[in-house]
Amino acid sequence: STKPKVYNFGAGPAAIPLNVLEKAQKDLLNYENTGMSVMEISHRSKTFDNLLNKAKQDLKTLLQVPDNYKILFMQGGGLTQFSAIVYNLLAAKRQQVPGEEFNPPLDYFVTGSWSAKAADEAKRLYNNVNIVIDVKKSKGSFESIPPKEEWKLSGSKAAFVYYCDNETINGVEFPFIPEVDPSVPLVCDMSSNILSRKFDVSKFGLIYAGAQKNIGTPGVTVVIVRDDLLTKPKSVNDQDKGVPVVPVMLSYKIIADHNSVYNTPPMFPIYISGLVFEWLLDQGGVEAIEKINNEKSTKIYDLIDKSKIYRSPIEKPYRSRMNAPFRIVPEELEKEFLTGAEELGMVQLKGHRSVGGIRISMYNAITLDAIDLLINYMIEFEKKHN
Ligand code: PLP
Repeated sequence: STKPKVYNFGAGPAAIPLNVLEKAQKDLLNYENTGMSVMEISHRSKTFDNLLNKAKQDLKTLLQVPDNYKILFMQGGGLTQFSAIVYNLLAAKRQQVPGEEFNPPLDYFVTGSWSAKAADEAKRLYNNVNIVIDVKKSKGSFESIPPKEEWKLSGSKAAFVYYCDNETINGVEFPFIPEVDPSVPLVCDMSSNILSRKFDVSKFGLIYAGAQKNIGTPGVTVVIVRDDLLTKPKSVNDQDKGVPVVPVMLSYKIIADHNSVYNTPPMFPIYISGLVFEWLLDQGGVEAIEKINNEKSTKIYDLIDKSKIYRSPIEKPYRSRMNAPFRIVPEELEKEFLTGAEELGMVQLKGHRSVGGIRISMYNAITLDAIDLLINYMIEFEKKHN
């Protein structure tokens, strides 16, 4: 049997549905009777074109993406988007505000390690980054999302407003879409919670997600971008002062105009993404998986809140449904907890090195059965140590 022997609670690369792995195993040898591996077919072939367009269409269906958005498959992971967003959206803003002066602020919500890192990259590339809130600065740690009254937004001047919907390391998730000036594109990193719940794509200028959590395997990043933000990249000779030149491989316009095949695309991760989209449609789509996800995380947090030895550092309304970091009191027990879990086949539960403790990642591919197994273990572990 190809059935994996363990439950992978890792934060990413994350668990992939078993049916997807089984299908991929077959297609690795012979894809759709081409006699070739899915990794060998030409990226310019009709076969690959069909595969890519089907993946796009299924994602469009799953998220109800409006027609005035493009779906792109890009390389370089989430981190490449930290830079691409700055380049492209400054160029898009420039088209709206011609004239001598051009130095619009970029607004960043800093609610965890990933948005902090994104803001740092923006500061490295550009000299006018405005921090809307920095929760670690104001509260001492990333544990909540302060109310609107505390946000320092730049209003319509901003080239975009950026936030991370789910902070994978800290376990903080937005329970709402932040309200910003309607003329300013809202940009969102949904790497670790895309496809986990319904949301209104039309509220955003751009959404992106590295594949290796809820979509598939590392190597591809999905970008959903509104048409008006696609601008033809210029070269240094005709570029305005103060507006960075967009490198071709980072240009949303170029990637969109070539249907994500400007150069050799990451074909295997795109293929796996397509299988995961099909799988999710078979499960009943985003609405169906959202119910299960809510049930999974509710069970985990209820147990933590009732417990005398488990502690969640995150304020209740902002607790992530995807990643639940927690501590054990006393902390010396954490090692024993991890070893015991591994003996029962529950792996990759160690918290991120920057926060320590335990982290349960429960993306779409983690079943309720797996959560129940973990919960039983946590109850037994507490009995033993309380
Ligand atoms: N953003 C979030 C929310 C993430 O969880 C991660 C990675 O885990 C990243 C960005 C960075 O993605 P990548 O490793 O693909 O560059």
